[in-house]
Amino acid sequence: QPHRPRPLVAGNWKMNGLRRDLGEIAAICAAVGAGDAGQAEIVICPPATLLMAAAPICKGSPVALGGQDCHIEASGPFTGEISAEMLKDAGAEFVILGHSERRLDHYEHDHLIQEKTKAAYRAGLSAIVCIGETRAEREAGEALPVIAAQLAGSLPGLSTSERLVIAYEPVWAIGTGLTPTLGEIAEMHRFIRLRLDQLLPQQGVKIRILYGGSVKPGNAAELMAVDGVDGALVGGASLTSADFMSIAAVY
Ligand code: PGA
Repeated sequence: QPHRPRPLVAGNWKMNGLRRDLGEIAAICAAVGAGDAGQAEIVICPPATLLMAAAPICKGSPVALGGQDCHIEASGPFTGEISAEMLKDAGAEFVILGHSERRLDHYEHDHLIQEKTKAAYRAGLSAIVCIGETRAEREAGEALPVIAAQLAGSLPGLSTSERLVIAYEPVWAIGTGLTPTLGEIAEMHRFIRLRLDQLLPQQGVKIRILYGGSVKPGNAAELMAVDGVDGALVGGASLTSADFMSIAAVY
């Protein structure tokens, strides 16, 4: 296989985590520092309130921090919002964008996610752009066209492969314990790779395509071994360092 970028395992804490949970981040930093994540690049995305406290913990370790969303503007009258520049200032190097919980609960659409991706680049952050079909879309045989449209709509034309990561997360697999078959994942990752090559000539080949949705210690090895899967975006199982590290350890 000619193309094999460095795998990336990212933890998405969602709306979980208080200061007392920073020990989990410290434990992950210690384990990754000891070589337990093998080849994989490791990113933890705690709630924004914990970034500044997590930054000194991760400093000097190979673990990077990420935000879970950002606004399109750098600053201004946007009550309650957080800009990409603020995430960067707080110690983040990544930001998750277009997660299905934001697409569905906050009515985020492809064009907004494209603008947010540009904002992430502007601030010097790497963007983990999430895409994924709903159960109804898969059952209607629409999964591939839905993913094609999300990719075309969510990505800025000008992209640097180092700064862009795609996370394929079928909505029906998130937090449900369900996953697509290994064949379905392979098919989708092959399809996403093809579209990236078309959308971002020269660059597409280097962009990592993560799988996300009910990745657990028990299924990580077989999911990560699927052809074209360059790592994982982990939700629930990222909240405890032991579970997260046993996923990262498959690399
Ligand atoms: P899950 O979430 O691992 O809990 O299914 C994944 C995600 O939403 O990124």
